[in-house]
Amino acid sequence: MLANNTIASIVKHNPKPSTMRKKKVAILGATGSIGTQALDVIRENPHLFEVSVLTAQNNVELLVSQSLEFSPKMVVIGNKEKYSTLKSGLSGKDITVAQGNEALNDAVTLSEIDIVLTALVGYAGLKPTIAAIKAKKDIALANKETLVVAGNLVMQLAKENQVHIHPVDSEHSAIYQCLLGEEQNPIEKIILTASGGPFRGKDKKILKDATKEQALKHPNWDMGAKITIDSASLMNKGLEVIEAKWLFDLKPEQIDVIVHPQSIIHSMVQFEDGSIKAQMGLPDMKLPIVFALGYPSRVPTSFERFDFSNYPSLTFEKPDTETFSNLKLAFETLKAGGNLPCALNAANEVAVQRFLNDEIKFLQIAQLNEKCLELIDFVKNPVLEDYIRTDEKIRKKAAEINL
Ligand code: NDP
Ligand code: MG
Repeated sequence: MLANNTIASIVKHNPKPSTMRKKKVAILGATGSIGTQALDVIRENPHLFEVSVLTAQNNVELLVSQSLEFSPKMVVIGNKEKYSTLKSGLSGKDITVAQGNEALNDAVTLSEIDIVLTALVGYAGLKPTIAAIKAKKDIALANKETLVVAGNLVMQLAKENQVHIHPVDSEHSAIYQCLLGEEQNPIEKIILTASGGPFRGKDKKILKDATKEQALKHPNWDMGAKITIDSASLMNKGLEVIEAKWLFDLKPEQIDVIVHPQSIIHSMVQFEDGSIKAQMGLPDMKLPIVFALGYPSRVPTSFERFDFSNYPSLTFEKPDTETFSNLKLAFETLKAGGNLPCALNAANEVAVQRFLNDEIKFLQIAQLNEKCLELIDFVKNPVLEDYIRTDEKIRKKAAEINL
């Protein structure tokens, strides 16, 4: 199995944090939910981590203040209209300042960088992740969309360049942690847990009129808007199924999803003897972030610890894939393969944005996704250009379709 071989190849030694060489980190999407939590982790562990690169799309004020605090080598703002504010905010500092999304591809190749945290949202993560892998930088991967769009290509490049991809998504980090010490043992299946989101247990009659305010209220996690809506529609779990396929070299039949509303078990691996290993803890993204950045060491943390007596029951239920059809759609596209997951991702990014703009209703997100998949020119073995073309075409269609 690729996953176990991958882990076997990188578990060579396990230096204690005190002896660990300081790692230089590039954070793409530093101003977002994952980016700011990663900076919290770095702020608490200045002996272990140092910031090399920070990037954002629009939030130039926060990017300036982060840069003044962490003194990176290079800072990039995606929105060119914000460049002059960034430049003046950092004038007199020994920091290279750049603009535009193409600059991300250069920023990730700086020679000093050890690891690139991809904490930007959506398809925009694909090209810089590829650039970082080609520059032989390890990846702490939060941006799941990159693997959904082009998982085969990205994993192949990582293998060729001997780059390690450490998952940040809590479920995938859980699986990764369960696999440590199991290098020789094939996975029978994995069980991805899902909180069920704010609409768990609701049917289509109720969800017909679901508002964005309701959808943006996640019960357990405080995340960016896109992933929060994806969690409400179960598309997030669908994207995670596809992400898991590529990270751990699994067949779709080896991936189960179970709703676990307390979000304490972050996911599980079942081995061929029937034994199941789970990774648990209170829901706090700083744990998978520090695990990915600190790998192979476990970095001591002061996060609140899980107390069993506060959780007398951990519960589990089947996901409702009739109401939340995005999950079913994700499994179908995964089974069909080729450029279908890329098309699903593009349709969904536009659908979520249209929902947030009050152009479509909540249940129409899945309807729009399904309609877009009917419009795809199927490519069985896509290369990068096919993914780019598919993304462009489906994005355009998804913006035009009237439901
Ligand atoms: P946020 O929306 O909070 O942050 C996104 C970050 O990316 C911001 O820094 C934003 O800049 C920047 N950004 C937005 N659009 C672009 C673009 N087109 N090009 C370059 N940069 C851009 O997202 P999250 O932190 O919630 O999520 C980030 C990624 O991590 C997503 O792929 C998500 O699925 C994944 N993830 C997140 C989890 C979470 O708990 N939040 C959990 C597991 C995975 P600006 O602020 O200037 O707009
Ligand atoms: Mg997750």
